[in-house]
Amino acid sequence: MSDYLDIDWLLSDEEKLVRQTARAFVAAEAQPVIREAFAQGRFPMELVRGFGELGLLGANLEGYGCAGMSNVDYGLIMLELERCDSGVRSFASVQGALVMYPIHTFGTEEQKQRWLPKLAKGEAIGAFGLTEPEFGSNPSGMTTTAKADGDGWILNGEKTWITNGGVADVSVVWARGPAGIQGFLVERGMAGFSTSDLHGKMSMRASVTSSLAFTDCRVLASHVLPEAKGLKAALKCLTQARYGIGWGVIGAAIDCYETARQYCIARKQFDNRPIASHQLVQEKLAWMVTEISKAQLLALHCGRLKDAGRLKPEQVSMLKRNNVAIALECARISRDLLGANGVMEEYPMMRHMANLESVKTYEGTEHIHTLVIGEAITGIPAYR
Ligand SMILES: Cc1cc2nc3c(=O)[nH]c(=O)nc-3n(C[C@H](O)[C@H](O)[C@H](O)COP(=O)(O)OP(=O)(O)OC[C@H]3O[C@@H](n4cnc5c(N)ncnc54)[C@H](O)[C@@H]3O)c2cc1C
Repeated sequence: MSDYLDIDWLLSDEEKLVRQTARAFVAAEAQPVIREAFAQGRFPMELVRGFGELGLLGANLEGYGCAGMSNVDYGLIMLELERCDSGVRSFASVQGALVMYPIHTFGTEEQKQRWLPKLAKGEAIGAFGLTEPEFGSNPSGMTTTAKADGDGWILNGEKTWITNGGVADVSVVWARGPAGIQGFLVERGMAGFSTSDLHGKMSMRASVTSSLAFTDCRVLASHVLPEAKGLKAALKCLTQARYGIGWGVIGAAIDCYETARQYCIARKQFDNRPIASHQLVQEKLAWMVTEISKAQLLALHCGRLKDAGRLKPEQVSMLKRNNVAIALECARISRDLLGANGVMEEYPMMRHMANLESVKTYEGTEHIHTLVIGEAITGIPAYR
């Protein structure tokens, strides 16, 4: 039982309906293909149309074909997607929080009309290029440049570790211009723009991760996101995505915990007794359900704050840092409870565990979120 605290009682009927819709889609369409997709190292592209039809992409944005749901609805969707796989949730996170959100927030009316309806329907795919080979946790050091050139800009540089990079129709790319960091919309096929996929990931295998290269890539003025000025704008996008991650990872944790709970009740050792009858095993199950319940309350509270316009980035850091850490621990503990079977692909633990290692790193590592919280409570930045 993963709703130990009856947290459902805090949800509206509409929120439960949104969750049920996402859950049913994941069970019918995503779960049957995820193991094979992960083994093959491919994102299950066949899911994208369904995401679009159900309004799961950029679900918390208003207008332009977006579903206009609440932030709690959006969080519940992320949880259901990551119950299947972090790669499935990452696709929706990037599309909604890192591509649609910046176009919606920083774009011109023309850019919104051109991209948002297609992105919402899953007819176009987006990527977000911030990280560079030499600048990950510290994107303020980025070396990708944007030089003014007549009525446009010339981009030079490289981005790496970009989710959806190789399959994206449009990438939100951050580059250093004369007035500071600025966001651009770079479209697939533009001269001087190329992508190459990263191979050999042991984690997040059901997700496309790519490098983006810009060699005298000319973008028109109409491809500048006019209000995406400064690193602050990029960080605003990351806050949106981190919020979704804080919810999503609970899904992975629940999948691990539920699998382990059922297994421990069924599996018998020593005098034909279920392993769930041992105190050491119960302690692990009790730890997991407690941490999952706390994570759910934290996520729901942050969601209510966000819907009220009160959620602060440092609160999102607590949500992301805590919930990723407990999800990873649930994956490890539940793997242990399945013994040797726990290492097999027919159980989800190793896949979730491997994925969650990426989730711990991306969108601000655990260290970086610790430092964000540290700065918030002391007033002293300790990043250097
Ligand atoms: C699967 C996957 C998908 C990704 N998708 C995207 C994407 O779509 N778009 C994008 O832009 N990026 C993406 N990333 C990149 C991700 O955001 C970066 O990997 C992350 O920001 C960390 O940067 P780094 O890997 O360079 O590690 P580094 O910054 O080199 O950090 C390495 C270690 O040093 C620690 N560290 C660094 N600085 C400090 C400090 N000041 N104090 C204490 N510890 C510190 C870190 O916490 C970490 O433990 C993705 C990454 C992965 C793995």
